[in-house]
Amino acid sequence: MPKVYFVIPCYNEEEVLNETMKRLSRKLQQLIADGKAAEDSRMLFVDDGSKDKTWSIIQEKSGENKYIGGVKLSRNRGHQNALFSGLMTAKEHGCDCVISLDADLQDDIEVIDQFIEKYMEGCEVVYGVRNSRKKDTFFKRTTAQGYYKFMKALGVDIVYNHADYRLLGSKALDALSEYREVNLFLRGIVPLIGYRSDYVYYERSERFAGESKYPLKKMIRFAIDGITSFSVKPLKLISNLGILMCVFSLIGFIYALVSYFMGVAQSGWPSIICSIWFIGGLQMLGIGIVGSYVGRIYSEVKQRPRYRIEKTIINGEPDKEEEAGENDKDGKNAS
Ligand code: UDP
Ligand code: MG
Repeated sequence: MPKVYFVIPCYNEEEVLNETMKRLSRKLQQLIADGKAAEDSRMLFVDDGSKDKTWSIIQEKSGENKYIGGVKLSRNRGHQNALFSGLMTAKEHGCDCVISLDADLQDDIEVIDQFIEKYMEGCEVVYGVRNSRKKDTFFKRTTAQGYYKFMKALGVDIVYNHADYRLLGSKALDALSEYREVNLFLRGIVPLIGYRSDYVYYERSERFAGESKYPLKKMIRFAIDGITSFSVKPLKLISNLGILMCVFSLIGFIYALVSYFMGVAQSGWPSIICSIWFIGGLQMLGIGIVGSYVGRIYSEVKQRPRYRIEKTIINGEPDKEEEAGENDKDGKNAS
């Protein structure tokens, strides 16, 4: 029987946490009773530097329910980092597989049995894939689906309609721990790991309480991270565009010469102004895109720790205090 860990990143989730814990706890106990998960399976709630009562709820409940564990990050590091810290903590506790899910339980927990079945059949990675987006707003649906298509066009291998609801086996976790990038985009990294993988389809529902912790700004940043961390095609596009512009201007130059000799030249300053602005705009865009890559390189080379664990609770008692994220291991990145 596999030792299963659930990892749930939480940021200001006091409204949903009690209910989530109740539902997940029921699910885990049922899995244990059915002989699908080992008795020492656990749930790990990662408090991503919440400003509300999230951590005190985790602390309190972990005292009452031995299946509930917690990890407290020293400050808000974002969903991906919080999830990663939970995955690594689960790995350190010797779990056989981890299932990551959101605190709002938008992802149907009834398919967890299928996740574990696939794992038992030998899959190291099982992706949870939504079979529809009917419940999403029109805006979210079109932007999200457009984004998946755009990523595909840029040559990034991501699973369509899969977010961070997935199972990872211990081998996949080991592989994942070797990825040291600071700008984390897990759904781009996981397909790179390899091993046998499979899909589980489910219906995604609405948040049962509270509101989304992913405002538009965070979503855009996350989307750009995904592109710049996995594709250099935008850089190539810029140079192609540059070549195209040169060809156009050459044609324009020839046209100007011809019209001059034919005596039909216009005193055309508007066209000159327009082209100056156009070329200027293109250059700025180009520099901007290059800049965003340079910025990312900058943050990667500094190798700052991705997160810092302030406290961990496992089996109802404090486990470890103060622990740096992956990149800080060898002590050279104390900045
Ligand atoms: N989350 C987090 N840190 C953040 C933002 C979000 O740990 O800075 C967590 C949040 O608590 C939730 C998950 O990430 O468990 C997904 O967030 P949310 O449900 O708000 O996003 P949505 O489903 O609206 O895309
Ligand atoms: Mg959600």
